[in-house]
Amino acid sequence: MKKFLIAGNWKMNKTSAEAAEFAEALKAKELPNAKDVCVLAPFTLIGGLGKAFEGTGIGFGAQNVHFEPSGAFTGEISVPMLKDLGVGYCIVGHSERREYFAETDKTVNLKLKALLQAGITPILCVGESLEIREQGGEQTFVAGQVIADFDGIGTEDAAKVVIAYEPIWAIGTGKTATPDQAEEMCAFIRGVISGIYDDATGDSMLILYGGSMKPSNAKELLEKPDINGGLIGGASLKADDLAAIAEAAASL
Ligand code: PEP
Repeated sequence: MKKFLIAGNWKMNKTSAEAAEFAEALKAKELPNAKDVCVLAPFTLIGGLGKAFEGTGIGFGAQNVHFEPSGAFTGEISVPMLKDLGVGYCIVGHSERREYFAETDKTVNLKLKALLQAGITPILCVGESLEIREQGGEQTFVAGQVIADFDGIGTEDAAKVVIAYEPIWAIGTGKTATPDQAEEMCAFIRGVISGIYDDATGDSMLILYGGSMKPSNAKELLEKPDINGGLIGGASLKADDLAAIAEAAASL
């Protein structure tokens, strides 16, 4: 049976009251696959979400982390601080962080290593810009990201990483990759992982699609063989929509 992860990326949205309201609404759905669902929240909301989801199986986590365990890094949050809150997941290398906050494959690689050492599941984002796709360079570009991001990570640790393929041109634009485009790249990424490690690691890796996934298009994306779920931005802000996407995964 195919494994799924339905991960909501709230980005810089919601107050604590709004998060609490969302958590109650999501819990009320009593999702059959609650353990395959998680919410990646702003740092200020993580503690509250953890308490609200206690005993439900629904996961929670962060959208970024610093790779050093402590020190003079004003404004940053470390892996031990996330561990302290009981987080299970952390996004690494989201294209918005790569574009607006100078995230590089080097820092992504350090963050992956720090999270893996602490037993937190990284959700590694990779994906090409529209310009790169129009030039036909998307596979070379994404393979380059994957190879650099996994540099020096052993097989056992690599198998614990979740990869999210997020074409930048589809994020927050309402323009979704077609199921065939998404499947083609997710299968390609699986092949890159098999090439770096082995077939068992490639075959078992969770590879998500992200980019304007919503209830109306989730099923056709999720039923593709190499797509193990979604990283969902806009549509994850409404409990009804995130639940509908989770239910689409549960029906497959
Ligand atoms: C994202 O933030 O990772 C994302 C895919 O956003 P959206 O679903 O809004 O395109």
